[in-house]
Amino acid sequence: MSARLRIAIQKSGRLADKSLELLEAAGLRVLKGANELLYRIENAPIDLLRVRDDDIPTFVGDGVADLGIVGLNVLEEREDGRSAEPVQVMNLGFGKCDLKIAAAIGFDYKGPRSLQGLRIATTYPHVLNRFLAENGVTADIITMRGAVEVAPRLKLANAICDLVSTGATLEANGLAPFETVLRSEAVLIRAPKQIEPELAK
Ligand code: ATP
Ligand code: ZN
Repeated sequence: MSARLRIAIQKSGRLADKSLELLEAAGLRVLKGANELLYRIENAPIDLLRVRDDDIPTFVGDGVADLGIVGLNVLEEREDGRSAEPVQVMNLGFGKCDLKIAAAIGFDYKGPRSLQGLRIATTYPHVLNRFLAENGVTADIITMRGAVEVAPRLKLANAICDLVSTGATLEANGLAPFETVLRSEAVLIRAPKQIEPELAK
C-alpha cells in the first residue's frame, strides 16, 4: 500500500472548486503540478486524485483512494453490490441540490400515487426506482444521460426526476417541481477498510 493518503475529488464541475477550498481551509497546501490526475500536498503525505465524480464511489469503495468527496446523489445512484460500499463520514454543507420530480406547470399532483402509470425520464433510475417501490407505485422509468428537462416537451415522458437547485431550468422548460426524492449535498466518504494507522495520524 502507498505511504501517502489519497483523496479523490472531482476534477472539474460543480464540486471541484469547493472541494479544493475545503482541503486548503483544513491547512493542506495544494501543489498544482503538471500531472492533471494527481495534485500533491506540500505539507502532508497526501495526494489528491482528480477524477469524474461518478468514479469517486468506485475508487473509494475499492480502496484506490482512502477518502473522497462526492454528491450524495451520486453515491445513492450506485448499483448495489457492484463493488465494496464506501462509508459515509460526514456531510460537507456545500453542493446542495434536491432530486425532484417535476411535470408540466399545472399538473394535478396529489402525492406519489399520482405517478402511477406515468413515464418518468431521469438520469437517476436506481434512486427513482427505490422511491417508487417504497411508495407502492408502478411507473415507466426512461433513463437518459442528460437534458432530461426536454423529455416532456418531446413527449418522451410525462414527468422527470432531476437535480434542482434554483428551479430556473425547470421553469424555462414549462415544468414545476412537486416532490422531493432525495436531498443531496457533498459528503466525505472513506474506504470500507480501516485507513493505515501511519496515514491516520
Ligand atoms: P463530471 O464531469 O465529474 O462527471 P458532472 O457533470 O456529472 O461532472 P456536475 O454538474 O459538475 O457533475 O455536478 C456535480 C455535483 O454537484 C452533482 O452530482 C450534485 O451533487 C451537485 N450539484 C449541486 N447543484 C446542482 C445542480 N443544480 N445540478 C446538478 N448537480 C448539482
Ligand atoms: Zn458526473
